[in-house]
Amino acid sequence: MTLTFGAPGPAFTPEPAPTMVNDTPGWYRGDLHLHTVHSDGSYTPEEIVAGADAAGLDYFVSTEHNTPTANSIWGRHARPDLLIVGGEEATTRGGHYNAVGLDPGHWIDWRYRPEDNKLPRFLNEIHGDRGIAVLNHPFCPFKGCDWRFPYEVMDGIEVWNGPWDPSDEAAVAKWDELLRAETFLPAVGASDAHRSPNVIGLPQTVVRAQGLNQGKIIKGVAGGHSYIVESSGQTLQLTAQSGSKRAGIGGRLVGGGSVVVRLRVQGAPGTVAALHTGDGLTAVEPIETNDATVTWTTTAAATRFVRAEVRSPDSTMVGLTNPIFLVP
Ligand SMILES: [Zn+2]
Ligand SMILES: [Zn+2]
Repeated sequence: MTLTFGAPGPAFTPEPAPTMVNDTPGWYRGDLHLHTVHSDGSYTPEEIVAGADAAGLDYFVSTEHNTPTANSIWGRHARPDLLIVGGEEATTRGGHYNAVGLDPGHWIDWRYRPEDNKLPRFLNEIHGDRGIAVLNHPFCPFKGCDWRFPYEVMDGIEVWNGPWDPSDEAAVAKWDELLRAETFLPAVGASDAHRSPNVIGLPQTVVRAQGLNQGKIIKGVAGGHSYIVESSGQTLQLTAQSGSKRAGIGGRLVGGGSVVVRLRVQGAPGTVAALHTGDGLTAVEPIETNDATVTWTTTAAATRFVRAEVRSPDSTMVGLTNPIFLVP
């Protein structure tokens, strides 16, 4: 077989997606972990955008394995109502992590293991782009996927990867163990979709941000101002109130006395809501209607945080919030 060069094609012109959609504060739905034909996925960029629309997403993060090439083409697919954030999934020999918010053309090396002590250098590079590093699927059963680096150096943890399974259960248990030991890693969920029939936006991270733009979405995720649900059909609201003071997900409620924790669950009838505290599971309440609110009462002396889970009767996760911190 003989290979010959043809005529030179047109030069490649990078077209990264705009980093700003709007400056309107709100809750924004997104998928933080997606693959296309730029790495080992079969989805085309067009199919990812179509899937994001079908899932009701406001933003997504492009996370190809070990290459930033896709980050230079998303401008061709950007729209005025959809934020596309550049990223990369570094598949190191000690587990996988997502760089979220990479500058176009910035490549993050993946060729190291924990004992090489190279991770801090690449975390610094990501932070230099004002990005964050989120450790992925820490208990993924495939060889080389399980997390062997320290947890506390990361900016977040993917506790729910694709359809709910035992590895997600293990990730939530580890996250909760860290939280009770006073190491808070903001939890995210993402589809890790590669090809049909992987569902883009299952699950999705709904983040409170001061605008739909790259910096503000990253700030919301890094602050833990988010919850995870299986689809755009579900909305969660968790608040803690003591007297006239009130805090939301990822916030701090300062002051002693009685604290009323209120969870509103929309779009999940027939499920069970559970309040988790520093002492473990505190209470469960059935969610019987399409728009239900349950309340619990606790104190800052009794627990340093509260967080909520909503599960179907067979224990499959439907929604999970980051904590609200209670400070005496
Ligand atoms: Zn991975
Ligand atoms: Zn992945």
